[in-house]
Amino acid sequence: MKEHLRDIVPYQPGKPIDELKREMGLKDVIKLASNEFPFPPSPKVKKAITDAMDEVNRYPESSCYYLRQRICQLFSVDENQVIFGNGSDEIIVMALRALVERGQEVITATPTFLVYRIASMVEGVDLKEIPMKDFRYDLRAIKRSVSEKTRLIFIANPDNPTGTYVSYEEVVDFLRDLPKHVVVFFDEAYFEFARETDYPNCMRYVSDKRNVIVSRTFSKYFGLAGVRIGYAFADKGLIEAMNKVREPFNVNSIAQAAAIAALDSRDYYERCYEEIMEAKAFLEKAMDDLEFPYIHSATNFILVRIGKSSQELVDELLKKGIIVRNMKAWGLEEYIRITIGRLSEVKRFVKELKHLLKE
Ligand code: PMP
Repeated sequence: MKEHLRDIVPYQPGKPIDELKREMGLKDVIKLASNEFPFPPSPKVKKAITDAMDEVNRYPESSCYYLRQRICQLFSVDENQVIFGNGSDEIIVMALRALVERGQEVITATPTFLVYRIASMVEGVDLKEIPMKDFRYDLRAIKRSVSEKTRLIFIANPDNPTGTYVSYEEVVDFLRDLPKHVVVFFDEAYFEFARETDYPNCMRYVSDKRNVIVSRTFSKYFGLAGVRIGYAFADKGLIEAMNKVREPFNVNSIAQAAAIAALDSRDYYERCYEEIMEAKAFLEKAMDDLEFPYIHSATNFILVRIGKSSQELVDELLKKGIIVRNMKAWGLEEYIRITIGRLSEVKRFVKELKHLLKE
């Protein structure tokens, strides 16, 4: 093994539903642990996937031609300002590979999306993790920590696992006079959920040809986590660099077809979104009633402070067929992160939780 890989703790995903079914002999399992979308794909997406199956003997189009046309039209960007990835995870990796040399440095916050840390360690580049302030990215502290060596800054906006976001004003202040050798990567995996009025439009910095990458995904709001497809916008020089490290057929043909159909099914996804928001309000009210503090989230999940018994609770819920995420890997032992599922799933979670608390 390469020496610099020794200390890496691989990413631990939330437990898959089938694994829990196998382990516990359970039939009815719900997963509220990986910030997934809780509904099946739209009928149009299902049809697109079925149709695409007929051609899986062929390699996919490396350029994601039709999807690229669609995205460019939708977001008013040029074709050379977009890149697609096997999930937005892959775009994080491509940015690191293309932009950061050994001896240079990456900055992000802590706690935040763990892939920034893991992928930086894999690349063998230096990493600074700046503590959050009140569970929010402290952009001022991040800016103060920028050095000659800093090449890339990851900002999850909104963040995972906290669900908080940095505002328009904070971003304007942050980007003002930021040294030119620094690229800022705004990871907007939860963009479609972040509808607060002061949530920034970071795409304008791409149009302004700033040193900014904005990544998005089809895994969350568009419910395509299983087929893996994400995309990013940046000025053409940055896209060109990332294209050099991109694997030729990184986005499969089923994912490309599904993504186009998902964009064509906006009404369906918006109806699902509304139920998710209803379930979120239900869950927040339940947490208020139980006096569990939680962090106000601009996403489809919330981080709840349970206290010392948090791991025990996660284990007990597993026995009942409910998967939520313990936060040990983030150093937040007293917290759990609950993904907002369907209303019926969230109601079942609250019912079981109340039951367990009584025992
Ligand atoms: N960024 C953030 C902040 C996330 O939470 C996730 C998903 N857990 C991703 C990126 C990666 O998503 P995907 O690779 O499925 O697009």
